[in-house]
Amino acid sequence: MKSLWDEGEAQKYKDDPLGMRVYTSQLLGASQDLVLHGGGNTSVKIDDLLYVKGSGWNLDIIEKEGFPAVNLETLKEMVKRETLSDTQMVAQQKEAMFDKSFPNPSIEAILHAIIPFKYVDHTHADAVVTMTNTPNGKKKIEELYGKNMLIVDYVMPGFILAKKIYEQTKGIDWDKLDGMILINHGVFTFSDDAKVAYEKMIDIVTKAESTLIVEKPNLELLTPEKLSFYEEKISHLRRQKVTAKVIDEDEAYYFSTLKNVGEIVHKGPLTPEHVIRTKPFPLVVNRHFKIDLEDFVQGYKEYFFEHSKNSETMLDLAPRYAIIKNRGVVVFGASEKENKVLEDIVLHTIKAMLRAEKLGGWRSLKRKDIFDMEYWELEQAKLRGK
Ligand SMILES: [Zn+2]
Repeated sequence: MKSLWDEGEAQKYKDDPLGMRVYTSQLLGASQDLVLHGGGNTSVKIDDLLYVKGSGWNLDIIEKEGFPAVNLETLKEMVKRETLSDTQMVAQQKEAMFDKSFPNPSIEAILHAIIPFKYVDHTHADAVVTMTNTPNGKKKIEELYGKNMLIVDYVMPGFILAKKIYEQTKGIDWDKLDGMILINHGVFTFSDDAKVAYEKMIDIVTKAESTLIVEKPNLELLTPEKLSFYEEKISHLRRQKVTAKVIDEDEAYYFSTLKNVGEIVHKGPLTPEHVIRTKPFPLVVNRHFKIDLEDFVQGYKEYFFEHSKNSETMLDLAPRYAIIKNRGVVVFGASEKENKVLEDIVLHTIKAMLRAEKLGGWRSLKRKDIFDMEYWELEQAKLRGK
């Protein structure tokens, strides 16, 4: 992933550390790969105060009003307590606020306070967390990042996490650390320079994403004649003209060469919401297009009748995308806009599936849950309105 740092823009905040904090927080918030599942928080230390993200604010749109200032010494004293309940922690953090009209500080405020750098960035980056969510996750992280990455086993966020890290880092040379990875949770980076803290985050996530980099295999590409033949057959099923568009990305070509690709895609989409756009599974072309398309139609009907409660009307039987074995991945939308949406969703799904396969296997969603989402009245209405 790329750094979004803009030197010209950053110049505006060179004498305004809180303004700079807002700026790089928004940069982090702007990347779906960092904040897709929400969460993440940032802070800056100015004199004896910690300005930390307040609850109720998202990083992408945060402003100065989203950063309550908390007495730094109080937070650093709190971590020395033997125990502290969540309620006590929230109350004491509030007590230590400079201006109580601001939102409550993040539950990770104590942790931000004990990290001895001006700028602290924290995200729940997908690529890193996915890697830690596996049986050998910790080992994979150690191999990828080396000894200068502090790795912290999972504990509940809040006081317990801050306390654990406080104990684990006693006597450590913080200057040698590239960052901190929390198993099943996320990443912390830090520096006295806002740009360095931000770009360390980008580097760490890029490294995790790189475990996914695949080379484009040498394939025989689909000819325009083939594609228009597909379009004709699928338009007929959809009762609407569709256009075939090949996803011209290395991951997509590589995906089409996997031996078990048919099995993987039949386990279901990335999230149930996607089914509205993509249908529960794509067409997989192994042999002859027409025979495989008949199989797809048959499979879709079986799926419908297995889960239908008799009140639903079956949707059209046209696949929204196809894996053409050893040729690539093709989307079939009824408009340019639909093709764009399909391309985005399918590529995102393929990358997640490839990553999961490397880490031990794509997990399936229940077919029943997928069906309920596809045939959910509100979603059907939303589609009809578009
Ligand atoms: Zn967190």
